[in-house]
Amino acid sequence: MPYQPPVKDMLFVMNELANLQAISELPGCEDATPETAEAVLEESAKFVAAEIAPLNHSADQEPSYWTKDGVVTSKGFKQAFAQFAEAGWQGLQHPTDFGGQGLPKLVGTPCVEMLHGANISFALCPLLSDGAIEALLTAGDDKLKATYLENLVTGKWTGTMNLTEPQAGSDLAAVRTRAEPQGDGTYKIFGTKIFITYGDHDMTDNIVHLVLARTPDAPPGVKGISLFIVPKFLVNADGSLGARNDAHCVSIEHKLGIKASPTAVLQFGDNGGAIGTLVGEENRGLEYMFIMMNAARFGVGLQGIGLSEHAYQHALAYAKDRVQSRDLTGSPAGVSIIHHPDVRRLLMNMRSQTEAARALAYVGASLYDKAHHSVDADERAQNQAVYEYLVPIIKGWSTELSQDVARDGVQIHGGMGFIEETGAAQHYRDAKILTIYEGTTAIQANDLIGRKTVRDGGKVAKDLIAQVRATEAELAKLDGAEFAAIRKHLAQGASELEAVVDYVVGNIKADIKGVFAGSVPYLKLAGIVLGGWQMARAALISQQKLTVGDGDASFYKAKIATARFFADHFLTQAAGIRASITDGSAGVLALDIEQF
Ligand SMILES: Cc1cc2nc3c(=O)[nH]c(=O)nc-3n(C[C@H](O)[C@H](O)[C@H](O)COP(=O)(O)OP(=O)(O)OC[C@H]3O[C@@H](n4cnc5c(N)ncnc54)[C@H](O)[C@@H]3O)c2cc1C
Repeated sequence: MPYQPPVKDMLFVMNELANLQAISELPGCEDATPETAEAVLEESAKFVAAEIAPLNHSADQEPSYWTKDGVVTSKGFKQAFAQFAEAGWQGLQHPTDFGGQGLPKLVGTPCVEMLHGANISFALCPLLSDGAIEALLTAGDDKLKATYLENLVTGKWTGTMNLTEPQAGSDLAAVRTRAEPQGDGTYKIFGTKIFITYGDHDMTDNIVHLVLARTPDAPPGVKGISLFIVPKFLVNADGSLGARNDAHCVSIEHKLGIKASPTAVLQFGDNGGAIGTLVGEENRGLEYMFIMMNAARFGVGLQGIGLSEHAYQHALAYAKDRVQSRDLTGSPAGVSIIHHPDVRRLLMNMRSQTEAARALAYVGASLYDKAHHSVDADERAQNQAVYEYLVPIIKGWSTELSQDVARDGVQIHGGMGFIEETGAAQHYRDAKILTIYEGTTAIQANDLIGRKTVRDGGKVAKDLIAQVRATEAELAKLDGAEFAAIRKHLAQGASELEAVVDYVVGNIKADIKGVFAGSVPYLKLAGIVLGGWQMARAALISQQKLTVGDGDASFYKAKIATARFFADHFLTQAAGIRASITDGSAGVLALDIEQF
């Protein structure tokens, strides 16, 4: 079942909810007119549907594998990556100074979503390169930028992110990899990194590892971590490739999902030391890595959305094709299963959550663009703060729901969903990693509480809730049961979210464990309310379009119905989630550890 990027919905969200027109009026974004963006999305959709999506299932069946001469990627990946790079897709959102196309994040976001929708294992490689580019742009000096950026932006080389070690996963304070200064501006790197995505592969001539390590006199904990560039092949002064660096892939993991994406154990310095160059200043590595991680976390959120869309398309095609059981209201013979109300419920679960998560992510991308391109410094700072509040939600909520969506997709397939041939099971297996890497959902939720809610006393959260209430007031002006239902449940959701923000800010000092016991439910509640808010906005805009007779009436009616479904089935969960947070911590923490 081929994946077709949902360009129509993407354009609707990008133009109507995230207001591309306003972004294209910002300095530096003038090329991103709605017409140009539409052409870019159409071209990207053609490419991923034709070249990348067809490799998704075959690569799952024939994963990348390790050899002593290096990792061999799944059949077709090398050629597809060459086409990807040649067409300039890696550089879409990156600066023109380094060979990119300089388009805003709002235009890049749908293209990234569709790449992941087509094939997460493949798309991980560009995702990691994006993170490396972002870190170098922020913290690299001119020499590093000149040596590496254009090669990464054009897809000539790829990037990796080396944080994890056997004893250092969620807690990077435990990183032990050593960096010894050589007195000539370089360092020798010694240590083991595990779980490194695309830590080795055969798709490009060089791989640029960004590595967290400690210098000899570094302070303990996260304040003593520095960031280094350690290329697979050293780069000569004229830019040509030099000696093989002492950074070797000693094995790759056998995994539940994303099997075609090689997950490497990298050994640094077993043969005298891997040559590394410091990025930025010593001991500021985690700060730089956070920049890279924010970009990558947003990207992983898009993986959840892309995967959900693919699983939905898969299940929908099956539901229209599979004939089983008579219609409840009577039919002479069996009907396709899409006639059965429960199958419809499952499909609407899948569709409405995917659309809500997409809308929230694209609105997040527009905030990022405003944070980077607005003329006014206050405006930039405000947009940055809201974007940063949304990143853990976009990552955590979109990926958690992708697992529910993929599970519903398997369910719609019945027994065939459990059989690998249909491909439904692959989405379910692939989805599981999304809530783990780039910080587990619990780590996203800790970030949401600590840095994003408590630090500003809940200000950004409350400002967003005020905007939700403004949408609610707009809904009150419309007649019709659908708008009344959306308004009622959105109003309730906003109140529950506000109660939780007050609870978090008010209790953090007196009952820190109690507050963190509700961290993941808070993240989920915020996702549901803010995603439901975007669906409500989509319904309002759709009604305006219908009133003036502008565009595809069937699309707008479906959008209103989908928004109502989301309100009836997800926003209604808000009260229960709130109760589990504000009243439920005692139960979480009641048992002594010995009682488990
Ligand atoms: C396929 C794959 C690809 C990966 N790619 C990369 C990569 O490219 N680069 C890289 O550096 N790493 C990568 N990782 C590593 C990944 O980021 C870590 O696995 C992840 O951060 C979790 O760390 P951990 O596995 O050590 O789990 P742990 O940190 O041991 O966590 C175990 C459990 O404890 C919970 N937990 C831990 N601390 C807290 C806390 N403070 N509060 C609440 N709960 C907590 C977690 O949520 C989790 O449920 C990858 C991993 C996999 C499996």
